[in-house]
Amino acid sequence: MTKIAMKTPIVELDGDEMTRILWAKIKEKLILPFVDLKSIYYDLGLPNREETKDAVTVEAAEAIKKYGVGVKCATITPNASRVKEYNLSQMWKSPNGTSRSRLDGTVFRAPIMVKGLKVLMTTWTQPIVIARHAYGDVYSGVEGYVPDGGAVVLKFPDGTEKTVFDFKGPGIVQAMHNTDKSITSFARSCMNYALDVKKDLWFNAKDTISKIYDHRFKDIFNEIYEKEYKERFEKAGITYFYTLIDDAVSRIMKSNGGMIWACKNYDGDVMSDMVATVFGSLAMMTSVLVSPDGKYEYEAAHGTVTRHYYKYLQGEQTSTNPIATIYAWTGALRKRGELDGLKDLSDFADRLEKACLDTITDGIMTKDLLPNYEGEGKAVTSDEFLDAIAAHIAK
Ligand code: NAP
Ligand code: MG
Repeated sequence: MTKIAMKTPIVELDGDEMTRILWAKIKEKLILPFVDLKSIYYDLGLPNREETKDAVTVEAAEAIKKYGVGVKCATITPNASRVKEYNLSQMWKSPNGTSRSRLDGTVFRAPIMVKGLKVLMTTWTQPIVIARHAYGDVYSGVEGYVPDGGAVVLKFPDGTEKTVFDFKGPGIVQAMHNTDKSITSFARSCMNYALDVKKDLWFNAKDTISKIYDHRFKDIFNEIYEKEYKERFEKAGITYFYTLIDDAVSRIMKSNGGMIWACKNYDGDVMSDMVATVFGSLAMMTSVLVSPDGKYEYEAAHGTVTRHYYKYLQGEQTSTNPIATIYAWTGALRKRGELDGLKDLSDFADRLEKACLDTITDGIMTKDLLPNYEGEGKAVTSDEFLDAIAAHIAK
C-alpha cells in the first residue's frame, strides 16, 4: 500500500506518563502504516524539560507559530511532589500556559459523540463546543477583607476615583480586569473557529448589570463581527448570536446543541464541566488552542492519567482511553491536509475517526465507557482497543 504523502511537517510535542505510552502506540498502529508522516519532534516529557531548562517548550511553541499546526501529548504540570519525584531544579511552568501565552489563543473543547453511548441530556443531539476565554477576570483578580469597615476606592490613571463601597462593618471586596487586546483576540479566535467548522457562534455576558465591563466584551465582539466577519459568516450560512448569559443557559438547555458557545473566563470554567459531564467523559473530549492569526495546537482535554501509569509500570495492562489523543492527531492531520490542499490526508483523518467510533458502536471499548454503553459491550485493554481500531481502518 502506498502511504499518504505530506507537504508541510506537523509540530509534534511528546509528553508524559500513560499518555506518552499511548502516543507511541497510536503512531505505530494507527498513523505510520498509512501516512508518510512528516513531523518536527519536540520532547516535552518532564525529564527533557528539566534537561533543557524548559527551552524545549518555548522552541516547540515557536515552531507551531512558524509551521501553523501542532499536536501535543498531555504533560505533567509540576507541583512540589513532582519536583521530588523527577528531581527537578525548578517547578517548571505549565507547558499549556506557555503555549497559550505565546500563541495568544482561545481553547475550544468539543465532546466526541458516539452512537451507542448515552448523552445525559436527551435533547442535545449535536455536540456543544465551549470556547473559553483564558485571560483575566476573577482568575487574576485582586481581593481583600475589610475587617473594620471604611471606604474602598478605585483610582483610575486619569485621577478619577470611584467608591466601591463605604463599609460600616467587616466585608469583602474584589477588583478584576481585562484588556481590549485580549478580548479582541478572543473574538477573532472564536469567529475563525466558527468559520472553520461551519457552526453558529453564541456569545453571552451580563451587560445589563455590568454596563462597562461586560458591555465592553459585547461591543468588541459586535464590532469585530460587523467589520471583519459578517460577510464571511453569511456566505458560510452560519450566524453570530449574542444574548445575556442567563438567557443563553436557558436556550442552550432547550436546544439540540450544535453551536460554539463562547464564554467569559468564569462562565467557561463552569459551563465546560457541565457540558463534559453531560456528554460522558473527559477522555471523549477534544481540545484545540487556536490563535487569532490561525495557528492550531491540538491536544486531549485530559491529563497524563498518572494512576494508570503507575499500574503500567508494575507490568499491568491498562484500559486507558486513547480516543482524545487519537483525535488530537486527526485534528492536526486534517488541518494540515486542508492548509496544504492534500485531500487524501484530510480524508484519512475522517477515516481514522470513523474507525474509532465504529469500534465503540460495535461494543469494543475501554472500561471508562462501559457504564454509558447502551448494549452488551466489552471492555478491553488499550492495546486491544488500538488493534480493533486499526482493523476498522483497514476495512
Ligand atoms: P487526568 O490525567 O486527566 O486523570 C484523572 C482521572 O481521570 C484518571 O485517574 C482516570 O480515572 C480518568 N481519566 C482521565 N483520562 C483518562 C483516559 N484517557 N482513559 C481513562 N480514564 C481517564 O488528571 P490528573 O490525574 O489530575 O493529572 C495527572 C497529570 O496530568 C498531572 O501531573 C497534571 O499536571 C497533568 N495534566 C495535564 C494536562 C495537559 O497536559 N493538558 C491536563 C490536565 C492535567 P480512573 O483513575 O478512575 O480510571
Ligand atoms: Mg474548572
